[in-house]
Amino acid sequence: MIRKIEHLGIAVKSIKNSNDLLSKLLDSEPYKEEAVESESVLTSFFKLGETKVELLEASSPDSSISKFIEKRGEGIHHIALDVVGIEDELKRLQDLGFQLIHDTPKAGADGKKIAFLHPKSTNGILVELCEDMESSDGD
Ligand code: ZN
Repeated sequence: MIRKIEHLGIAVKSIKNSNDLLSKLLDSEPYKEEAVESESVLTSFFKLGETKVELLEASSPDSSISKFIEKRGEGIHHIALDVVGIEDELKRLQDLGFQLIHDTPKAGADGKKIAFLHPKSTNGILVELCEDMESSDGD
């Protein structure tokens, strides 16, 4: 079940500079900064009502964020959907013909299990499904 937009992911060249910018824009401070080794990214998170903004900076030149910024510049990188029962959602979407980047969820930032859909099958938008680790049994 898909519940809401959990966060927007924004690719940036510098987390530090972008934290300053977003702090001014949203009039709040990031509540978390976290390195995700498996993705070679540094992240920071801002709360915005029920949703969040995630900033992503590449921590290595072969990170997908470096490649994204090379091609398209800084900007919106992905939309993350909050789901309950991520494995079932992945199967549902795959059965409908969506192309999965990850067949099975993996550990992401902010205590989530995550999996991405390929933008080729979603009008050019990289879509992330995410589910809280602790609610993985669903309801
Ligand atoms: Zn994300």
